[in-house]
Amino acid sequence: MKQNNPIKIDTHFHLDLFPQPEALAQQLQDAHIKVIAVTNTPSVFHYTYNLSKKYPVILPAIGLHPELTLERQHELPIMWDWLEKTRFIGEIGLDYVTTNKENRRVQREVFQSILSKCSSFGDKIITVHSRRSSADVISVIGENYPGKVILHWFSGNVGELQKAISFGFYFSVNSAMLRTQRGQDIIRRIPHERILIETDGPFIKIDSTPANPLYISNIVKSLSNLWNTEVDTTFQQISDNFNTVITLIK
Ligand SMILES: [Zn+2]
Repeated sequence: MKQNNPIKIDTHFHLDLFPQPEALAQQLQDAHIKVIAVTNTPSVFHYTYNLSKKYPVILPAIGLHPELTLERQHELPIMWDWLEKTRFIGEIGLDYVTTNKENRRVQREVFQSILSKCSSFGDKIITVHSRRSSADVISVIGENYPGKVILHWFSGNVGELQKAISFGFYFSVNSAMLRTQRGQDIIRRIPHERILIETDGPFIKIDSTPANPLYISNIVKSLSNLWNTEVDTTFQQISDNFNTVITLIK
């Protein structure tokens, strides 16, 4: 699946949380940088979806962020209505920063119902948040999810990581992970063919500016340093990985 011009792709980015999403979409289109543009609640998805019609580098993902699950779960029917129109789902997952048992229970229930709807399609690519909840996220998804799983900003332990790798999951890594020893240790344990790149802007900042896919090359350079590979080789690997993700056969 080698190709001469590798695709530049940011697999987890919050386009709609930037002050001028359309101007940024235009810049990304001009620079031929693709993004999986995640959204945090179903009622705002139409905006990103409409932008994707005008700017094809935008791959719109419909999501319900786990930190918003409790207050926005009533929007799930909106998500069901959109599922036919996009292959990308996110941001979804679990966040156990809250210690409230009921909140965590509702998150698991909603995450499970999103997964079972997605499973019925068979081709959905999900981008998943797992802060302090990796073990539950991995076991709720399980090893037979019929689609592709991208764990975004994974921060679990080695055992959890190995389980996720054995289940066939992908990992989108970012500048915050590449900056810390712990993040680097995680990345080193992941096979190269399972790595994708994300900015997670505007939540991640680079030099106090919200991270943005226009600077994805900087992340690829840091990853090349860690891998001890040429930048072109790293770009090609990431591009091949993304092509595998969007190809249906698991
Ligand atoms: Zn995010």
